[in-house]
Amino acid sequence: MTRVLVVEDDPQLVRALVLNLRARRYGVDSAADGATALSLAAARQPDAVILDLGLPDMDGTDVIRGLRGWSRVPILVLSARRASDEKVAALDAGADDYITKPFSMDELLARLRAAVRRTDAAPLAPDIVRVTTDEFTIDLAAKKASRGGRDIRLTPTEWHLLEILVTNPGRLITQKHLLQEVWGESRSDKTNYLRVYMAQLRRKLETDPAHPRHLITEPGMGYRFEG
Ligand code: CA
Repeated sequence: MTRVLVVEDDPQLVRALVLNLRARRYGVDSAADGATALSLAAARQPDAVILDLGLPDMDGTDVIRGLRGWSRVPILVLSARRASDEKVAALDAGADDYITKPFSMDELLARLRAAVRRTDAAPLAPDIVRVTTDEFTIDLAAKKASRGGRDIRLTPTEWHLLEILVTNPGRLITQKHLLQEVWGESRSDKTNYLRVYMAQLRRKLETDPAHPRHLITEPGMGYRFEG
């Protein structure tokens, strides 16, 4: 049974989520604040967490950071506000996906299934040594890339970017996260660096760089690798 932890302080929404999830044979625990959420997560080891960002005792992003200290459990964030800053902060803190309130139960359930499927399918990042798409192959251990049987030369910066993306298949990686990882804290506002390097990677790896199928831009948010 897939266990889900619902973290939400609105009792009506909790009731709706619990009913819908149980009807689909999920095991469900719920917490109405961040502190309870963190202790329940440790005690029950859920397979997924649905997390409201506006909690009475702490910010939802602090709950994400708390969980990410020891867990890779998929976290689906519920955000009441449309502010993309808040979503970006949640994704940077380690959330896997977000959904804006009000949402349809069907969409939430679909995203939950996708998040659980990704963790089932994706081994932990260090175990990914070879990524193969229909257009190119990346051997992370040997630091080799090839397309159509030909070796592709990548610069260290291109490698670093590509490595982060391909070891998180299907997952949106924010601009800020990539900039901090690759260029360091002080360059975290230089989104033009990212555009330049992503364009180079696409030219080298994608068959049609203008219509990339694997190195995908999420406008205003970040990038996603689709295998
Ligand atoms: Ca709330």
